[in-house]
Amino acid sequence: MQGSCSPSARTRGQGEGGVFGGRGAVRRPPLPPPSPPPSFADLGMQKILPDTSFLAQWRDRIEAVFITHGHEDHIGALPWVLPALDPATPVYAGAFPMQLVRRRALEYNMWGDGRRFITVAVGERFALGPFECEPLRVTHSIPDCMGFALRCEHGTIVHTGDWKIDEHPLDGQTFDRAGFEALAAEGVSLFMSDSTNVLSPGRTVSEASVERRLAERVLGHAGKGRIVATQFASNVHRLGALKRAADAAGRRVCFMGMSLHAYLAAAHRVGLAPFDPAELVSAADAESLDPSQLLVVTTGSQAEPRAALALAAHGASPTLKLGADDLVLYSAKVIPGNETRVTEMMNAVAARGATIAMKRDEGLHSSGHACRDELEEVLRLVKPHHFLPVHGEYSFLCEHANLARSTGVRNTSVIRNGQMLGLSPTGTGASTAGSSLLGGAHGGRGAAPRPIGPPPAGGGRAYDVRVIGEADLTTFYNDGHRGTGTAAEMALDERTRLATDGVIVAAVDVARGPPPARGGGDARPAGPPRLRARVRLTTRAMWVDSGRFLERLVTVAESAVGRLPPDAALAAVERVVGDALRREARSYNAKRPEVVVIAHEFDPRAGAALRSRRGGDGGGGDGGGRSDRGGGDRRSDRPPPARRARPATATPTAGDMSDGGGSTDGAPSDGDAPPRRRSRPRRADGAAPPAVPAPDALLRRRKAANPREDPDAAAAAGVDVSFG
Ligand SMILES: [Zn+2]
Repeated sequence: MQGSCSPSARTRGQGEGGVFGGRGAVRRPPLPPPSPPPSFADLGMQKILPDTSFLAQWRDRIEAVFITHGHEDHIGALPWVLPALDPATPVYAGAFPMQLVRRRALEYNMWGDGRRFITVAVGERFALGPFECEPLRVTHSIPDCMGFALRCEHGTIVHTGDWKIDEHPLDGQTFDRAGFEALAAEGVSLFMSDSTNVLSPGRTVSEASVERRLAERVLGHAGKGRIVATQFASNVHRLGALKRAADAAGRRVCFMGMSLHAYLAAAHRVGLAPFDPAELVSAADAESLDPSQLLVVTTGSQAEPRAALALAAHGASPTLKLGADDLVLYSAKVIPGNETRVTEMMNAVAARGATIAMKRDEGLHSSGHACRDELEEVLRLVKPHHFLPVHGEYSFLCEHANLARSTGVRNTSVIRNGQMLGLSPTGTGASTAGSSLLGGAHGGRGAAPRPIGPPPAGGGRAYDVRVIGEADLTTFYNDGHRGTGTAAEMALDERTRLATDGVIVAAVDVARGPPPARGGGDARPAGPPRLRARVRLTTRAMWVDSGRFLERLVTVAESAVGRLPPDAALAAVERVVGDALRREARSYNAKRPEVVVIAHEFDPRAGAALRSRRGGDGGGGDGGGRSDRGGGDRRSDRPPPARRARPATATPTAGDMSDGGGSTDGAPSDGDAPPRRRSRPRRADGAAPPAVPAPDALLRRRKAANPREDPDAAAAAGVDVSFG
């Protein structure tokens, strides 16, 4: 978090406190409506993590993990999910997604001997405890995508995964209508289908159409400058389309973006690559080519700051240049939330004179998710007893359920993250909660698999379907390195306040006892004992009104201390100063900055005497938490006085304080440097936070449900997302 520097804070002299006595006199203006909070990426969070405590609780009942396809939002959580499961729980995936799973598992040291990772192919049925699983081919925007059917004696569950119906997929692997039709004939108890595009009318465009439009554009730029195409790296089929277009136009293809190489290599290893990666020209060799002989494929369609396209747009890429003769093909969609930064990037591209092709009617992109007519077709095909829409915003799920009912599906459910749906056939003596397909129909891990019974006759069986419970889920955040925790542990509220309202840091030197006598030798006190304060403060990321605001802050802080009894603890000083500063900030400019107050004894012997009378400090402060603090006795080499509580908020060093202090009076008479403090780790126990939260730890930290997910975070982290 970076804040702009404020002018130096002005400091009032000690003994001048208490001049501002307008207690309650200031009328607070109403706070403005809240502005949109900064994105999680702006707050330093790179990943939003799942709460795996639910899985950990049910680990003995989880037969397997089935990966439908390799998009990041379907495999990216595995490093957090796998530790929550039994180490022997198998992970099933197709050959291509398994390559991606393997890469991720190796990265997190979770591959082991690899035996739990089992590659499956469409059409191959296999047993999973009491279930029989059958993968079905679906089309999407990444190779080797599957839906799956789970049969057991109580019925059949079908999950589509992410899908659309591409009538002319570039790899020839068509949507398995016949397979879904056969399931419908058996009878589908529960059907789950992708709701992402339920609000989009009509049908998706085939990748074959996208290939034609790309080829037209590439050939239309013959003899001119370079062509730069940006797309989701995982859409390997489209990489093939661009390669074929480049071949036809006599251009060499160069990848700029590590993930492009990674996805193509993964496809190549399992025989699904549209071309040999060795045919690519390296970025270094591309520089020697005439621009008219080059087609660059780059990541960065969402304007991720470090991606090649964003750098090139601003003239900052060492390898990719953009000029007036160049053509930029935007073969992706702008993920909601990224509109502003993508627009800014494309403005920068346009300013370089390059031609841009990104309008919808260019036809350079097709969604990987079925539109409404396709969703309706498959609902009519499968004719499930019960329908549960999945994937998409809650409103999308509701609309998908409406669509299902319009096709004659009588029973639909819409559930939120964490809710558990139980399904059991009626008339079997099995209660929904105790013996549902999703809850407890099988014997758990280690139990002998029951024989797979005949599937129920289509439509002839009634089921009891209901929500049988709700897990209390917490969202976790990762800062891109070791920092992982809840919103509270990652201080998201504090980060938001720092970003939007700034920070005030106040150092308060407290002097106790009667004011010093005037005139030197006379030791008699000049008045009754009282508490006096000298406040030094600084702000960051705040408007300070040419210093007038700072002066007000100092005045109200010193006044607040002056109203305390002479024996008030430092914690009380910090609390009243913090409250006064917050009130003043709100009154002055309707801001709610983060406020950090650290109080010191100006004469530490007075504080030590006070503590000894009380038998220790009451602690508290405005932030809670205890930690060491250095310094205190500035006059001798004796050890520092007794430690006391201070706010948990990270405090700046003394150097930071003096940076904004600008004290001209009331400084310690012996001229010692202000005490330095140690920064402290965020965790109270001092242990380094784990790179990956252990499931047990997640269990302990479960709090209020917060199902919010943010695809921007994935995009900002430079990973591919599945919205193609
Ligand atoms: Zn997907």
